[in-house]
Amino acid sequence: MSKNKETLAIVGGGSSAIMLAAHIDSTKYDVTIYERNQALGRKFLVAGKGGFNLTHSSDIADMKSKYFASTPILASLDTFTNTDFIKWLKENGIDTFVGSSKRIFPVKPTKPIQVLQAFENKIKENKIAINFNRYRNIDEPVTSR
Ligand SMILES: Cc1cc2nc3c(=O)[nH]c(=O)nc-3n(C[C@H](O)[C@H](O)[C@H](O)COP(=O)(O)OP(=O)(O)OC[C@H]3O[C@@H](n4cnc5c(N)ncnc54)[C@H](O)[C@@H]3O)c2cc1C
Repeated sequence: MSKNKETLAIVGGGSSAIMLAAHIDSTKYDVTIYERNQALGRKFLVAGKGGFNLTHSSDIADMKSKYFASTPILASLDTFTNTDFIKWLKENGIDTFVGSSKRIFPVKPTKPIQVLQAFENKIKENKIAINFNRYRNIDEPVTSR
């Protein structure tokens, strides 16, 4: 851990955490993801069983109108839009296509595990630590099971 950096804990290693960890500036923060399961993105893999969609191709204003969320959360959709996400996926080796439902899918034969591995490579590149233990509270050290 660097003395010049703030320490940051991301609790839970689902897809939200993975995206955050891929984008965080690790020159400024020492980041650890805490995940109580023995692997990241378990639900992401379950989602993939039904032919998973990664986002939707609709206009961002239209997409925002479908959400009931607080203003800062809705505003965040303007700073990293579905189009930005599609571009980011492509930069990370995941080509996509628009399905008949207008949802965005990875191009076959990209499997959920391959998409997850691409995300994991990105967070490794970004030097994010992963601790496979349950995070209880900030005052309680996370120990091995
Ligand atoms: C059957 C199914 C199909 C789906 N299909 C799609 C789809 O096609 N497209 C799509 O976009 N979405 C789909 N989803 C929804 C998608 O899976 C979720 O929106 C997404 O997983 C949410 O990500 P998350 O990171 O917010 O939460 P999660 O994926 O739930 O991750 C939270 C993580 O936090 C961990 N955790 C919680 N508390 C702690 C703690 N105290 N310490 C350590 N770890 C902790 C949990 O173990 C978990 O791994 C589907 C979901 C299901 C169930």
